[in-house]
Amino acid sequence: MLPIEKLPEPQDLLDYKRESSAPTYDGFTAFRQERNDAGNRIPRNETPFYKLREQLLREQKFVCAYCGQKVLQVENQHGKAQMKTEHFLPQNDEAGNDLNYQNLLGCCLGNDNKKGKNHCDSMKGDKVLQQITNPAAMQCRDEDIIYKVNNASEEVQLDTSNDNKRKELIGDTKGCLNLNHDHLRKERFSIFKNVLKRRLGEDQTQWNFQEVQRLISDYDDSSDGHHKAFKDFVTWYLRDWLVKNQSNTSRR
Ligand SMILES: [Zn+2]
Repeated sequence: MLPIEKLPEPQDLLDYKRESSAPTYDGFTAFRQERNDAGNRIPRNETPFYKLREQLLREQKFVCAYCGQKVLQVENQHGKAQMKTEHFLPQNDEAGNDLNYQNLLGCCLGNDNKKGKNHCDSMKGDKVLQQITNPAAMQCRDEDIIYKVNNASEEVQLDTSNDNKRKELIGDTKGCLNLNHDHLRKERFSIFKNVLKRRLGEDQTQWNFQEVQRLISDYDDSSDGHHKAFKDFVTWYLRDWLVKNQSNTSRR
């Protein structure tokens, strides 16, 4: 999980909150249908609702706030949503979190409408995460999160050194994030195999220090406005490898 640096709250959202007598997030989404002064429906991608979602993706550098997989589009070319707007604190509470911009995150679809279990927002639902910090309030990555590569089963598991957080992170029941969903474990391993091993070599004991550092730098570089998929796993894993191998006297 990576920290999110929020952009200024969109003016459309501020205007809606000021102008509406009883503003709600669901009310704001009705802006989807908004028409211009001439009564013509404005293009979908110019509606305040669409632009809000687009900004969520932009400030998160086009990855899901929880699992870190790529989320490149608000909608596909057929108008089908490719993301969800997550309320970190539940939408319908009494504390006004419904339209608090800091509380809004962009999430992947979380396997919604597909067979099998969900993950991310789609699994969490309206539950309050007690142990996990809102990524928009984090200063650095969640250092309690670690990863375990399993070459035999070809998957990468997320784990945590903090027992209190385990259930919320990887529990596979409603209210948890289920970040070890089959799809996520396999996708992380795919990056391990096709990026790390391809670039650094099959044998981890022979990886070159400078090459490892260069790959970390590549992953840390988001100057094109995009994080790479599963950046948190890759950068954590490579830094951990450096620490574990730095004590070796035979530096390669
Ligand atoms: Zn996700």
